Amino acid sequence: MSSHRLVVDLHLHSRYSLATSPQLNIQTLAGTAIEKGIDLLAAPDFTHPTWRKEMQTELEPAGNGVFRRKNGASSGATPVNGDLFSTEEPGSRPEPAFILTTEISCIWRQGGRSRRVHVLLMMPSFEAADRISQTLAAHQNLESDGRPMIKVSAADLYSMALEADERSVLFPAHAWTPWYGVYGSKSGFDSLEECFGEHTSRVPAVETGLSSNPHMNWSVSDIGDRAIVSFSDAHSPASMGRELTVLDAEPDYESVRSALFENRVVETIEFHPEHGKYHMNGHRKCDVRLSPEETPPDGRCPVCGRPMTLGVLHRISEIADLPHAQLTMRSGLLFGDEPRHRPFRQLVPLRELVAQALSAGVGAKKVAARRTALIDRFGDELAVLTTAPRDDLAEIGGDELANLIMAVREGDVEVEPGFDGVYGSVSARPASPAHV
Ligand SMILES: [Zn+2]
Ligand SMILES: [Zn+2]
Repeated sequence: MSSHRLVVDLHLHSRYSLATSPQLNIQTLAGTAIEKGIDLLAAPDFTHPTWRKEMQTELEPAGNGVFRRKNGASSGATPVNGDLFSTEEPGSRPEPAFILTTEISCIWRQGGRSRRVHVLLMMPSFEAADRISQTLAAHQNLESDGRPMIKVSAADLYSMALEADERSVLFPAHAWTPWYGVYGSKSGFDSLEECFGEHTSRVPAVETGLSSNPHMNWSVSDIGDRAIVSFSDAHSPASMGRELTVLDAEPDYESVRSALFENRVVETIEFHPEHGKYHMNGHRKCDVRLSPEETPPDGRCPVCGRPMTLGVLHRISEIADLPHAQLTMRSGLLFGDEPRHRPFRQLVPLRELVAQALSAGVGAKKVAARRTALIDRFGDELAVLTTAPRDDLAEIGGDELANLIMAVREGDVEVEPGFDGVYGSVSARPASPAHV
């Protein structure tokens, strides 16, 4: 893989965040990154004291603001004549780089309302992580949650981070989610300026979250030329890499930082936005799901009369002030019509496609076995989903699965949109042989 196509997942969690998998340690994060095709991933939850020590024990500095596993590929199996398809995993595939990036939940009052905004904070060294953690420890017991809830504004947090290290980078996470998005319907703002104040120009990027895609974000002028990025926000290894950003960057802190500020996004890998759990408006208890157009003006549930959770689609349509870009699909990538529109592709996790092809549950053993066989053959999940030739896919995975993968590449999917915390579903429509 060219060094100028760096596949990045900056929004992850460790087992020290609430409601996360106990498997999320450094070995699993690195091993899963290799399997998924991630080149650079977050060393997450870095304000958590116990976990930070664990990371410092297991990672070593690569000398440029990123880190590598101490007991990774170098001491494991050696590459066999550059054979990418060796089944001697995971040592035969390149070792991913880690970059200190953590999610923080800011809670404060502003403009007579309670505000809750999640942000991602990237820092170049464990010393910087120590310093910001010391500052934040005055506000919160950092042992209690790897994604701490801090009673400071997002702007004040940015000031603290810059004081800890002037190379710190901070930007909003899942910007549109109702409860914790900077633009969210429940406790968010109408502009980045209202939230980040004097630091607004230092906010290089906006994370779209699962329920929105770049196309939806392009129609919001407030985002401007900022990088529109996607990451997985994984709470378990299986979810890692479900959304990714490909940067024109090296695995190096300054390179990643400048790639964000200069919007050197090559492409983003997305869920279908309908897959996310806050795409449409609705009320889960009453099983009511409505589009923005179907929603009554008072935003109340037509069944029980309580306020519905207004989803991402609704919120974007409230703030959007630019015409919708025309989308064109070429080789599985969706292109807009302006230079600032970076291409993106919308995928369905391989596990789900294999389960569909085999008519089995996603947790079934045969699903895992078929998925592993494909990954061993093509190197990683991203390669299976995006570049592996159809006939080769069919040879390992069977005709049915090959057709499903091709259907997803062509955007031929059926969707059931998510709402009010309920995930949507997206399944591939098998393509006809003439189609592929
Ligand atoms: Zn969050
Ligand atoms: Zn209701």
